[in-house]
Amino acid sequence: MPDAAAINDFDQRLHGDLLRPGDAGFEAARRVYNGMIDRHPALIARCADQADVAACVQLARDQGLPLGIRGGGHNGAGLAVVDDGLVADLSSMDDLAVHPAEHSVRVGPGCTWGDVDRACGEHRLATVSGVISTTGVPGLTLGGGHGYLSRRFGLTVDNLLEAEVVLADGRTLTASPDAHPDLFWALRGGGGNFGVVTSFLFQLHKVGEVQAGPSFWHMQDAEAVLRRYRAFLPAAPEALYGFFAFMTVPPAKPFPAALHGQQVCSIMWCWLGDPDDLDAELAPLRDAVPPAFEHIGPMPYPTLQSLFDGFYPPGLRWHWKGDFVRELPDEAIALHTEHARRMPTPLSTMHLYPVDGAVHRVAPDATAFGYRDCLWSSMIAGVAERPEDDAAIRDWARGYWAALHPYSAGGAYLNFMEAEGQDRVRAAFRDNYDRLAAVKATYDPDNLFRHNQNIPPAGGGTAG
Ligand SMILES: Cc1cc2nc3c(=O)[nH]c(=O)nc-3n(C[C@H](O)[C@H](O)[C@H](O)COP(=O)(O)OP(=O)(O)OC[C@H]3O[C@@H](n4cnc5c(N)ncnc54)[C@H](O)[C@@H]3O)c2cc1C
Repeated sequence: MPDAAAINDFDQRLHGDLLRPGDAGFEAARRVYNGMIDRHPALIARCADQADVAACVQLARDQGLPLGIRGGGHNGAGLAVVDDGLVADLSSMDDLAVHPAEHSVRVGPGCTWGDVDRACGEHRLATVSGVISTTGVPGLTLGGGHGYLSRRFGLTVDNLLEAEVVLADGRTLTASPDAHPDLFWALRGGGGNFGVVTSFLFQLHKVGEVQAGPSFWHMQDAEAVLRRYRAFLPAAPEALYGFFAFMTVPPAKPFPAALHGQQVCSIMWCWLGDPDDLDAELAPLRDAVPPAFEHIGPMPYPTLQSLFDGFYPPGLRWHWKGDFVRELPDEAIALHTEHARRMPTPLSTMHLYPVDGAVHRVAPDATAFGYRDCLWSSMIAGVAERPEDDAAIRDWARGYWAALHPYSAGGAYLNFMEAEGQDRVRAAFRDNYDRLAAVKATYDPDNLFRHNQNIPPAGGGTAG
């Protein structure tokens, strides 16, 4: 336990609130999106500003406390919270300023993507975010970030213009292509290893109303759909995005009653082109394997980005596995459908998120993100409401992943990994790993920021 005088001094300096076990709000503040995570920090500091973040860094460093950095708290592995340590909770640092004339937005680390997309949507502008609006901006961005706009505008990090960072030694600096380019390179995909980002500046694009929604097919058509999809989407215009999913149809509108509770395969579309052209674009796939149900129509981008929020509220129990995928041979497709048929709960799912198009136009060593040559980022999620299903969702997700891993590119998207060991972290970065370890040695030689998918500093340091 840290020195009581040091904590009192810290508490006095803090502009935000300090929560200790037993304080009102402490229990809620230690919970994260994944209901499986049950960690017990010693202290939670609700940071109000950059000075509070620097104070947290100093306290953790001086007192040898494990330090967790919490943005949106969405990380599947629960990396935002630490046992017996200090959590710097950034959720109150949610300043946001849209600059429509410059096509940019400045975002505090407490913002969710829903906050950003709604504010930018008022100006018919957007940047690349994920598919659930409650996800935090910092964790998604620092891991790379892919979503509905990625085939057209790249990864979230490809749209990052600048980041303000509190470093392990307490200094604050701004990283950009022109200032501390080594740090800026590492922040774009290297996770929370290098410092605490207290402000992000993103490039915006004109995105008004999009044509979006799902096509569903019965499970007996799943292999045929996947065989078409693997060639169809990579050849489609970058204005078309469609992520493939195995799922169970929720018993709710607008889904037809006949499909309620049925396992299906689906593609969730987002079309940024002329609405009149969408039917012609989808025709090759639809004609080959006619969908059982479709619900595609116009909507503002922020509406699309929040469509799944209600199906996946905070507190569900998740087991995540992932891998990047370069190709989908017939044998892999057969294994996909075999495992999908055994989904243990109605909320469990498998997604193939496209990472081609504009993502491929950035050089593989231009940012820390390690996989610019793959077509999909796969995500297998066993999801349950009750602890009684924990073993079933874990075993299903692990078994599914183990069967498909030999057909993968070898590593996973950082943000779809659980605690999977150092070899998997290394595999997530491939050729960029050694350079990341060198940047880590420059900016965090003692590995203060290690409660993440950790890259120990080159030449020593403490593995996380
Ligand atoms: C339902 C669901 C859907 C998702 N969909 C997508 C998707 O479409 N696309 C996609 O790319 N990802 C997606 N993700 C994954 C998502 O990117 C990660 O969960 C991400 O870590 C969430 O960010 P956060 O800020 O909420 O994370 P947190 O849990 O708060 O933090 C995650 C990690 O980042 C570190 N961190 C947080 N804030 C900072 C900071 N300011 N400075 C430095 N380090 C920091 C933390 O210490 C921790 O290691 C999804 C996740 C969920 C649960």
